[in-house]
Amino acid sequence: MIEREAERIVASKARQDNGDAFENTLRPKDLSEYVGQKDLKKQLHIAIQACKKRKEPLEHMLFYGPPGLGKTTLSMIISKEMGTGIKVTSGPAIEKQGDLASILTNLQEGDILFIDEIHRLKTSLEEILYSAMEDFVLDLIIGKGPSARTMRMNLPRFTLVGATTKVSLISSPLRNRFGHIFKLNFYNNEEMTQIVRRSAGILETELSDEAANKVASCSRSTPRIANRLLKRVRDFAEFQGDQSISLEVADQAFQELGIDMLGLDLNDRELLKVIIEKFRGGPVGLSTLAAATAEDADTIEDVYEPFLMQMGLLERTHRGRMATKGAYEHLGLQWLEEETQSKLL
Ligand code: ADP
Repeated sequence: MIEREAERIVASKARQDNGDAFENTLRPKDLSEYVGQKDLKKQLHIAIQACKKRKEPLEHMLFYGPPGLGKTTLSMIISKEMGTGIKVTSGPAIEKQGDLASILTNLQEGDILFIDEIHRLKTSLEEILYSAMEDFVLDLIIGKGPSARTMRMNLPRFTLVGATTKVSLISSPLRNRFGHIFKLNFYNNEEMTQIVRRSAGILETELSDEAANKVASCSRSTPRIANRLLKRVRDFAEFQGDQSISLEVADQAFQELGIDMLGLDLNDRELLKVIIEKFRGGPVGLSTLAAATAEDADTIEDVYEPFLMQMGLLERTHRGRMATKGAYEHLGLQWLEEETQSKLL
């Protein structure tokens, strides 16, 4: 059975058990420290400078992309660069109309309201956000049935920064109210190495260039995973009594952790193996795959698949998921060309 997503070292979602508490120490504090995402940073810089000049709050913004790529970090950078306060919350944490009302009425002029996983906000609450975002007013419904009435309150001009891993689930009325919509991309190897080096510097850990490359290339192009792996490798080196992290130490640590040269862990390999061995390489539907691996369909779709597809090991076809030739080769299994080709047609 597949290990729970939250317990995986290469999980890209933040852990809820304080296991990622060190993340805050490693967060870039301003745009110049924020590695990669060049175009996004440029546009953001221009927008921030223009609004500061006009002494106006920023337009509402939506960041989307897989977990761990730096959406929360960006919202904090924006608040710092704008010199405003920030309130951080998430879609599922806002349960009732009263929760949202209290958050909105406690904001100060110009503040950033960061709502992570905004696609999980209830529809009834989303509707309250429309007038808050557009006209900076809060329309509350008081009471029920025929005696229900609406109460309108003015709100300070704030900037809503939404983050989502599933932009397709954002309704169009909500999407239309964002002035900027930014996509975060996976990081290339050079950027990942830079992130590893930067984090090692903050953690006062010495590591060789080869070891930094190794950690970077095993981190699924995701900064959160790079930081987590770096910490694990550092612990391993310390445990062995090594002062600095060499390639040899990093290799040993990854072997212990079950992470292979592509950055795949046991779960990824298990998922590919199930497709190959139980479904003859696919195509297999998501729900069947979820049942066969005892894993949640959402987790397969949001967490495992983006990386496996990026590595060219998995394809999503209109008939289901398929393991690629690369997946067979990586797992050392025999690829049956004709049979698989005919399934793709
Ligand atoms: P998300 O909100 O997209 O899940 P976070 O913003 O929480 O991701 O980022 C996770 C961690 O990765 C942060 O603690 C930060 O240290 C690191 N990180 C993310 N993006 C970058 C970046 N561009 N440069 C350096 N570190 C980054």
